Amino acid sequence: MLTITNVRLHTGYHADSAGVVTTRTDLFTIKISGTNIIAIEPQGGEVEGNVWDAQGLLAIPPTSDLHIHLDKGHFGGPWHAVVPTNGVPGRIKEEEEFLPTFLEFLPERATALLQHLIATGTTHLRVQVNVDPVIGLRNYETVRDVLAEHAHLVTSELVAFPQHGTLHTEKDGWLTAAMEAGAPILGGLDPFWIDGDLERSLTTTFDIAAKYGREVDFHLHTNGNLGIFEIQRILDYARDYDMAGKVALSHALALGDASPAQLDELAERMSQLRISVFTTQPISYAGGGCTSAVPWPTLMAHSVRVRVINDNINDHWSPFGSGDLIERASRAAEIWRKSDEKSLASAYALVSDGVLPLSESGDVLWPKVGDEATILFTDASCLSEVVARVPRLRELVVRGVKV
Ligand SMILES: [Zn+2]
Repeated sequence: MLTITNVRLHTGYHADSAGVVTTRTDLFTIKISGTNIIAIEPQGGEVEGNVWDAQGLLAIPPTSDLHIHLDKGHFGGPWHAVVPTNGVPGRIKEEEEFLPTFLEFLPERATALLQHLIATGTTHLRVQVNVDPVIGLRNYETVRDVLAEHAHLVTSELVAFPQHGTLHTEKDGWLTAAMEAGAPILGGLDPFWIDGDLERSLTTTFDIAAKYGREVDFHLHTNGNLGIFEIQRILDYARDYDMAGKVALSHALALGDASPAQLDELAERMSQLRISVFTTQPISYAGGGCTSAVPWPTLMAHSVRVRVINDNINDHWSPFGSGDLIERASRAAEIWRKSDEKSLASAYALVSDGVLPLSESGDVLWPKVGDEATILFTDASCLSEVVARVPRLRELVVRGVKV
């Protein structure tokens, strides 16, 4: 039994006579038995069991990172900037050379990054791990073991990611081998650009997924009309293979290039097929770059599940990233000018896999008696402030245990 006193919880929104909205909170005591919340009471009542005084810290849902690579980073080792090269094909060539030598450092670096992510308040991960002709299943097996050692702190799902191309990888049967080894999600990568044969690549992916009853999750970097066409074809395959709710598009950069009419049409189809979109919310390059941020407000207005993710933190693809998803949510809100009280709080759904303390109308949604006691505590007056100011202090309770 754990009792947490002086917990600040959201109680509703208040609009003054001029219509200006503020968030209401109050102090409560949360009682936890085993892994779940058994009581939420006004502060000041009787306490029992182990007691932790949260001293007024705000309780919010923990973060979920639905796209992270743990298997080829410099994090946890010596500093390395990125070596200049020619885009994705150049990076793949670079990988083919270093992956085998990297393997001996993999357990300690994956552990370092994983523990860093947990310390920021992340308690669920969808982990992309290379399955390719160079490394076979060795990265998959190593990362799976590191995640198993941390299963009491973070839940996870693994994506068998063909970084070197679906056709190239499956030629030797490695994707099938990953499915046989139990990988729950099958990855994909730019089927036109990397595989050079959109239809054969998609047929291969969806055939394997259908055979093993797995979800699919594509990395899509192609911009413009070709990227939009690629997304349309993936939606066609999701429909034809009866895989509604089982297809995710990571990055999907072309969504940032779609016209408003194209985007509405795509978003409507994606909503019907329950497609997920995972985006880092990239910042456009200064001086006329090519990457536009995925327009999450429009997609979410169509009820598409959009989540903001880290992807990579100081690896050979990018030296940037703090690992802090709240910082990412803040960037997503800033890019799309979501700066009023409710819009800021709503942006947090991008990193909490949709869980929010309050509904749009101010009803309390979280936490509730009976919920799993996995709670992030931080130093802010309300969720809107968390998204705008990104407080550094983080304390975690995971399934009833103070971390
Ligand atoms: Zn990725």
